[in-house]
Amino acid sequence: MAKSLVNLFFPKVCYACLNLLNDNEETICISCRHHLPVTNFHFTNDDAISNLFYGRALVENGTALFRFEKKGLVQQLIHGLKYKGYGQISPFLGDWLGGELKSLPDYKDIDVVIPVPLHKKKLTKRGYNQVAGFGKQIAASIDAIYKDNVLLKITNTGSQTSKKRFARWNQTEELFTLQNAACIEIKHILLVDDIITTGATLEACITVLSQAKNSKISIACMAIV
Ligand SMILES: [Zn+2]
Repeated sequence: MAKSLVNLFFPKVCYACLNLLNDNEETICISCRHHLPVTNFHFTNDDAISNLFYGRALVENGTALFRFEKKGLVQQLIHGLKYKGYGQISPFLGDWLGGELKSLPDYKDIDVVIPVPLHKKKLTKRGYNQVAGFGKQIAASIDAIYKDNVLLKITNTGSQTSKKRFARWNQTEELFTLQNAACIEIKHILLVDDIITTGATLEACITVLSQAKNSKISIACMAIV
């Protein structure tokens, strides 16, 4: 009764299609769950992601839950997650993908799940890292440890003058650093992010993570363009 009253005054909508949810639906409506463009990379052993990094970084296995289409349901979801404060989308997607990965040999020996970090300023502004819930749920599903204190995003502290001079370089270069490296040595790491486009951010993260001795790295993302 109380729940119905809450729904009457604050109706819940599907974060993908924005239609009203039924009482038995949470976060994403049943119709969208069937129509979201899943990649199934992990079920079909599709190497699209490791191939994307060919010659740039060594990736053991890689998958993305959805294909990203402009103006599609996935764009709506990720936009809500990043800019509208709909944080619950993140664990929902992590639960979905984690539930699929847990039975697959390629992902069984993963020890640590690490999110692509946000810069501290951005974290304060948004209030959460949009991939944290995703990573935590995947870690829980595949029996791995979630660690967000290993890979950090840092500011380029170059002077104003040098910033101007290297403006183009600054735009493309993202700076990451490693701390507590010992805890990822000899580990299989699953690096998680929201959307893969060129892979530049992930490549920068992998380069830094590879400083840990004998680590190997796989990737799981919410969507791929
Ligand atoms: Zn929907």
